[in-house]
Amino acid sequence: MTDETRPAPEHHAFQAEVSQVLDLVIHSLYSHREVFLRELISNASDAIDKLRFRATTEPGLLGEEELRIRLLPDADAGTLTLDDNGVGMTHDELVQNLGTIAHSGSKRFLEAMKAKGSGSDLALIGQFGVGFYAAWLVADRVDVVSRAAGSDEAWRWSSDAKNGFDLEPATREARGTSVTLHLKADQKDFLERWQLKDLVQKYSDFVGHPIELAREADDKTEGDPGFEAINQARALWQRPRAEIDEAQYKEFYKHLTNDWDDPMVWAHFKVEGSQEFTGLLYVPKHPPFEMDVPGEARRGVRLFVKRVFIMDNCDALVPVWLRFVRGVIDSDDLPLNVSRETLQDSAVVRAIKRHVAKKTLDRLDELAKESEEQYATFWGQFGRVMKEGLHLDTEYRDRLGALARFESSHGDSITSLADYVSRMKEGQEAIYYSVGDSRQAAASSPHIEALRAREYEVLYLSDAIDTLAAEGLREFQGKKLQNVANADLKVDGDAAKDDPGALGPFIARVKSVLGGRVRDVRASTRLKESPACLVIPPGALNPAMERLLRANGRDVPPSARVLEVNPTHPLITAIQARVDAGGPDADVSEWIELLHDQALLTEGSTPDDPHRFARRVTDLMQKALGAAPAAN
Ligand code: ADP
Repeated sequence: MTDETRPAPEHHAFQAEVSQVLDLVIHSLYSHREVFLRELISNASDAIDKLRFRATTEPGLLGEEELRIRLLPDADAGTLTLDDNGVGMTHDELVQNLGTIAHSGSKRFLEAMKAKGSGSDLALIGQFGVGFYAAWLVADRVDVVSRAAGSDEAWRWSSDAKNGFDLEPATREARGTSVTLHLKADQKDFLERWQLKDLVQKYSDFVGHPIELAREADDKTEGDPGFEAINQARALWQRPRAEIDEAQYKEFYKHLTNDWDDPMVWAHFKVEGSQEFTGLLYVPKHPPFEMDVPGEARRGVRLFVKRVFIMDNCDALVPVWLRFVRGVIDSDDLPLNVSRETLQDSAVVRAIKRHVAKKTLDRLDELAKESEEQYATFWGQFGRVMKEGLHLDTEYRDRLGALARFESSHGDSITSLADYVSRMKEGQEAIYYSVGDSRQAAASSPHIEALRAREYEVLYLSDAIDTLAAEGLREFQGKKLQNVANADLKVDGDAAKDDPGALGPFIARVKSVLGGRVRDVRASTRLKESPACLVIPPGALNPAMERLLRANGRDVPPSARVLEVNPTHPLITAIQARVDAGGPDADVSEWIELLHDQALLTEGSTPDDPHRFARRVTDLMQKALGAAPAAN
């Protein structure tokens, strides 16, 4: 076609978010320009993986040519081209993939960046992965020519980042994509062969497909293909551990996850026998941002079958309480045509999942042994997720119990249960825990007064998941975990006394005033300074759980608790004396109401009628001061 007959290219605007991402990339990453190569190679490698995956059902797609990624620097033109023979893109895919932001992740990345008000948070950018847009770190114009596998059309996508992009028909002999970067005047260094080799070594050596660099014209000999391989082209996880250094493990992690930070720890293992698979699993340093967003877990653990990439984020391979783990599983036993559905009830997958759990827990055990301080950092980031395992997975109860850490009355730092047990006092029967909305609330609970007097250590649980975790764990090293607010708490072998003794008439009076609002009223053995508290009868929900369920919109009827009164408290003995004196006494009823309201407040609940509670307190203060009650 001559220039006159060629139709004008279609012009498209970028979606507004793309322009914003481009802007951010250019302004925040200028000191890390070289990452463009890693990002584009990553895309090319993914495109080859996708092709191989499609070829498992459409073998005709593959053709003769070896799958590879090529780097073609052209000094005269000032361009660097990355060419792959992967899956390619159709016209519509070019528009969609390179002109809009498909993942809501990127949108929220923008929001997060805006909220932070700074353009330089690398960790944040890294977590979202800017991918293709990194091209604009070094180029002022980018041309993409692509031909989708199975199609005979090719399209050229072209943009200077400022004014949207153009699309026009193009020619390309075979399937694949080439990305041509018109390098900025000050970025021509990226045409240097040694520079490209260095960068591939540094960032992309483990890419499982060959990366080839075009030879210089004078280097070419006859019969030479004109390309030199510059990476090992062997998936990192397939290499023996001894051949991989730390830097490579770290780079591979970054390649997999887009995280800019190093991983905290990793485990690389090969399982042989009835099942054969290789795993390379990483624990990040900080929660992947999508970890707790349902439907947003884009990265996760990648599944390969016999070196062929099958899927990202393969939930079925990882227990939900390890959902922060990233990495690769490469199975020799699964069929290439596995789908998310068939994975769910595959015995192979269940076996892999058990290994994933075991290897990760082993590695975390080691970390805890190597450095309790580093482990505490890990626990601070992911403990909340791991604790779900105590509740969900009885199979791992003991191992998770050993890895769990809690706050406690022993110092300010968190403690393991093993350390707690080693500090248990003689005669101490259980591992005690107090639940509250904060450490402060758990620590000042009246339920632990008698335990504190005996210098028994108490765990302070203030995470929403904590009670479920403690109830799931049940016991550790043969010691029962005991909620101090449960009715069955025994202090020195005594539970609350059923025989009220001298307190009988008072207790009868309390019961008649409170009626159905309490299940029972008893003399307490757990109180020292406080006059009364509410305890949880067997089978009833604890108050923290009730509040959690209600906060999640569940309709939980209030469950009556047992009121315990402190027989040695001067207030109780004084009221008791009034009751013993006989006759109806309006004041006594008011005080009983107040005792009950107070007990509700200390367990973190709200009195049934806060307004009446406030009025009672006011009345009491007025009486104490001898002030006349306000006229109604
Ligand atoms: P990400 O790789 O994180 O999805 P990118 O911005 O890097 O985001 O790329 C967007 C999409 O464009 C990719 O998901 C992929 O579908 C497509 N793409 C990019 N590069 C290529 C390529 N070389 N071959 C085929 N598709 C590609």
